[in-house]
Amino acid sequence: MDNKNFDVCASFFLENGAVVGRFVRLNQVLEDILGKHNYPLNVSSALAETTALAALCASMLKFDGLFTLQIQGNGPVSLLVVDVNSQGKIRSCAKFDAQKLEDAKQLRKTQDIVESVAHLVGGGYMALTVDEQKGARPYQGVVDLKGKTLTELALRYFKNSEQIDTALKLFVKTPQGESQSFLAGGLLLQKVPLKGGKETQLNEDTLNRLWEDITAFTNSLKPEEVFDANLSSTEILHRLFHANNLQISGTKNFSFGCRCSREKLLTTLSSFEPKDIKDMTLENGLIEATCNFCAQKYVFTPDELSNFEKNLQ
Ligand SMILES: [Zn+2]
Repeated sequence: MDNKNFDVCASFFLENGAVVGRFVRLNQVLEDILGKHNYPLNVSSALAETTALAALCASMLKFDGLFTLQIQGNGPVSLLVVDVNSQGKIRSCAKFDAQKLEDAKQLRKTQDIVESVAHLVGGGYMALTVDEQKGARPYQGVVDLKGKTLTELALRYFKNSEQIDTALKLFVKTPQGESQSFLAGGLLLQKVPLKGGKETQLNEDTLNRLWEDITAFTNSLKPEEVFDANLSSTEILHRLFHANNLQISGTKNFSFGCRCSREKLLTTLSSFEPKDIKDMTLENGLIEATCNFCAQKYVFTPDELSNFEKNLQ
């Protein structure tokens, strides 16, 4: 599907800037990412939803560099990682244990159900990192995983780490029928903390009441609307927030992009134990490594790796 309404994030304000929001819908980005892997449906769905969350968070932040969202758990899916750079290039990947995934399905009798991210990852943590890549120390916020859905996990992060009132709703749609593909989307709103009271005409009580309405409108958003390719983001936002002085402030396009290179793979390989390198060595003696994000295969000679390691010392 080539649809201008997808792979875009709309930025908006409500109530004269008292609330900021982002609305994202992804399709081709997910097709590009998931098409490079052969993940089970549950894992693809979890990664699609996490990718939408990362796109929302990244577009809410002002940064010049790289934003990373990482969920690490002790469940059947042990890792979900998404990174988004300031140019809107996204890549993501997952790690999972096929046997554990199957055992969990049997145990919970969820054979035909796409399980929530929270169930699949189990206990662990979620980390959001912003790396400006200019020598400054990366900023990182971490929260432990507690909640039934990815939305609940993320809301806990915003409450604990950022202490900002946040409303969030995430959506994911698995392929149905032949021509269908993965879709994901999300709506994220944050109340801008009042400074002195003069910046906005609203007093705190009024704003709190409006915020309750805005949260209720956010929760009323339906998947049928989010995934309706004929509706533009502006139309959907207008339906929800027409009474809240909606102002669209801009849009940002997202596309798939991997940043792997021979040098980056060599750096990774140089941190491996000799026995791991042996496992990656082909019959002809060459070392084969695959990028976890884009599945690109790289082949190195043992000399290339040892020379690289020597230069590091
Ligand atoms: Zn790659």
